[in-house]
Amino acid sequence: MRRYSVFAVAREALRFHQGWARAWANPEPKKRYDVVIVGAGGHGLATAYYLGKNYGIRNVAIVEKGWLGGGNTGRNTTIIRSNYLQDPSAAIYEKARSLYEGLSQDLNYNVMFSPRGLLMLGQTEHEVRGYKRTVWANNLQGIETEWIDTARVQKLVPIMNTLGPRYPVLGALYQARGGTARHDAVAWGYARACSDMGMDILQNCEVTGVRSAAGQVQGIDTSRGPIDCGKLAIVVAGHSSVLAEMAGFRLPIESMALQALVSEPIKPCMDVVVMANTVHGYMSQSDKGEMVIGGGTDGFNNYTQRGSWQHVEETVRALIETFPMLSRLKMMRQWGGIVDMTGDRSPILSTTPLGNCFVNCGWGTGGFKAIPGSGWAMAELVAKGTPGPLAAEFGLNRFKEGRFIDESVAAGVAH
Ligand SMILES: Cc1cc2nc3c(=O)[nH]c(=O)nc-3n(C[C@H](O)[C@H](O)[C@H](O)COP(=O)(O)OP(=O)(O)OC[C@H]3O[C@@H](n4cnc5c(N)ncnc54)[C@H](O)[C@@H]3O)c2cc1C
Repeated sequence: MRRYSVFAVAREALRFHQGWARAWANPEPKKRYDVVIVGAGGHGLATAYYLGKNYGIRNVAIVEKGWLGGGNTGRNTTIIRSNYLQDPSAAIYEKARSLYEGLSQDLNYNVMFSPRGLLMLGQTEHEVRGYKRTVWANNLQGIETEWIDTARVQKLVPIMNTLGPRYPVLGALYQARGGTARHDAVAWGYARACSDMGMDILQNCEVTGVRSAAGQVQGIDTSRGPIDCGKLAIVVAGHSSVLAEMAGFRLPIESMALQALVSEPIKPCMDVVVMANTVHGYMSQSDKGEMVIGGGTDGFNNYTQRGSWQHVEETVRALIETFPMLSRLKMMRQWGGIVDMTGDRSPILSTTPLGNCFVNCGWGTGGFKAIPGSGWAMAELVAKGTPGPLAAEFGLNRFKEGRFIDESVAAGVAH
């Protein structure tokens, strides 16, 4: 792979950009791989990358039914933060956030990580108490967050109406190193690095069956033919239950659509990310100037990657309370992604009833921020066969043992 650099840009400028190589190969499937990863979203690609980088395992295929990054990874609102309450969550999300800090250099691909600061508004006394508790927990966990008062919130976000018709802003949890990154670039950067390590990214290749014998996966059936494997990793977000059923076990996952929308581009007016859980909406401004707005999940299980008018109306109504200037903006696009929800709103990184099959799912409405940390931990799980410290608490057994990792406050607004 030829590295991207200022010299490469200059060289290509001189030859009319005719010399750029394709970022990743489009190979035919081989008969067998040491590891097959189902799902070329951020988590699947990051798992493959750290398998190669940290463990030298490179005979790997990442099998994707559509195009890489076309699932939730390419549909999310790109918020990155690590201000979770429980220690295991804080550890894995902070690992991810800290990897994001150097990801562009690591992948030699600009993922546009923008640690612009993130606010979670406290709009009821109950919420204020919850966030203050999170700040104290974060400080014990070594994660830098602070509680800031209304005046400071107003200074950071002049366009906000802190008096609010229903809920005044009483302060906010502030994570200065939280922010956003370019979602496609995260998928593309990992894909390019995986392809460069000799891994096969098999797009338009739907897994239709999982073959197993004597408690071990033998291989998978796909729309491009059968593929054998030494180990199988299922990393398909909202379709996890579908894949688990093929493999013969069940997961405590509910799948439902989560929606977002963007406005027409406007001049820079807000340089932090704001989440307003009580009115239920959140917003940031993209580098193009669009206001990126996220709403809630559907109240019923489904697999439709579409938005709905009811949600748009609800979300926009919530945000207009907080940002009255939005009322004049035209909305350009809305869409949905299928998210994988667990009961305790924490992910699953786990062994399964099949000895050589592993599952990574349950990131629900907030897994973009976790991609590097999740890939790091999942690679360790797949390579060693047992979870390392980052994944140890996120096994499937916690649902049998009643050892939940409750993050319903941290995941209060769906993002
Ligand atoms: C509207 C919206 C907003 C969000 N906002 C945020 C946010 O601001 N911050 C945040 O941290 N998170 C956010 N999220 C959540 C985040 O997007 C997801 O948690 C994360 O992207 C999941 O990544 P993934 O790689 O696990 O899944 P995906 O990116 O969905 O990848 C899974 C892949 O598996 C493939 N697949 C499925 N079935 C098969 C099969 N049978 N064979 C082969 N391939 C298959 C799919 O095609 C898909 O490409 C949001 C999600 C949505 C929908």
